[in-house]
Amino acid sequence: MHKLFSFPKGEDLGEFSFKEDDKGFNIVLNEHPEVKTLLERRDRYPETLTINGVNPILHVLIEGVIENQLQIEAGVQEIYFKLQKEENLTPHAARACIANVFLHDFWAVLTEHQPFDQEAFVRRLSLIGTDISKLNRNDRCPCGSGAKFKRCCFPYAESFSVFPLAGRMDLGYGSYIFSTPATIEDPLDPIFQLEARYHIAEYMDTHKDLDGAVIVLKENIAQAESYEGRDFTKNAWQDYMLFCQNREQLAEEFLIASDHLISMTDNKEKGTIICDKADFLAQKGNPESAEAEYRNLFNIMPEFYHGRYRYALMLSNNNREDDAIRFLTDLLTKKDYDNPTHEAALTLLEVLGGDTSNFEFLS
Ligand SMILES: [Zn+2]
Ligand SMILES: [Zn+2]
Repeated sequence: MHKLFSFPKGEDLGEFSFKEDDKGFNIVLNEHPEVKTLLERRDRYPETLTINGVNPILHVLIEGVIENQLQIEAGVQEIYFKLQKEENLTPHAARACIANVFLHDFWAVLTEHQPFDQEAFVRRLSLIGTDISKLNRNDRCPCGSGAKFKRCCFPYAESFSVFPLAGRMDLGYGSYIFSTPATIEDPLDPIFQLEARYHIAEYMDTHKDLDGAVIVLKENIAQAESYEGRDFTKNAWQDYMLFCQNREQLAEEFLIASDHLISMTDNKEKGTIICDKADFLAQKGNPESAEAEYRNLFNIMPEFYHGRYRYALMLSNNNREDDAIRFLTDLLTKKDYDNPTHEAALTLLEVLGGDTSNFEFLS
């Protein structure tokens, strides 16, 4: 797994500065819209900004440097088009492969103030995609510098690899991507933006930027709703709902999100969200509304017995133990509900001190 543009912990950009109206930077930023909000709110976060080992702003910055080179350097342009034609790379991936070679020198330029050798850089680019592992270290370097391989491009060997997903914003897995995607070949596939935003929101939340996280998670909802591949709308709303849950100031947003999810799901999932919403209302001191949600649930999903257990649980959490016991006893008398509900209901009845003598645990 290649991690592009990782940013060593403890380092910062030092004296490296760039203009925000830089042309290349802005071209790349438009290709990586998931970074925009993070950039706008940059001063709220620590100087060393890394999300799972990657600095997303630096990612855009480096690709922007190469984008600028593409505008003026015929040699860079040539390899850029060659990589697209011969290696079947997307323009973004081709540029990122070039950036990988650039990165090798970048830290030396940045931290040791060594001059950047533009000619050597362009020469080296011709080695992208070639296997140099079998070369003799004392051979002449294949880049054409005339120097010995070991003194020229040998240390760059790993920077010459070509991979179709070069340049993707790789901030982690877990919300939309669960392993290295085999079927996706475009580093700008929206799925990467969705996943990246999830981690950016987490990062913002860790740095107490609740508003930023809300903006970013909402961007994900908007993107998911227009995504042409798989349907991620539910995921995006779910992420948002979970984020708003248990956050006092986002109570209204939680209700909006849960209503959306209720309207777009069915079966158990729908029932569970209705229960979550009802419990939330009860918690907020609105027992009538909670009660109404549960009544509605029993009406529209009479077979969802787990919802009845959740109702009893809600009653007991709101100091209505006697009602809970009555309700559970009634539920347990029914024969046609599912086993997990039976076990949960009986356990709760026991905890509440109700009469369990007529019922048996199944396991
Ligand atoms: Zn060389
Ligand atoms: Zn990129």
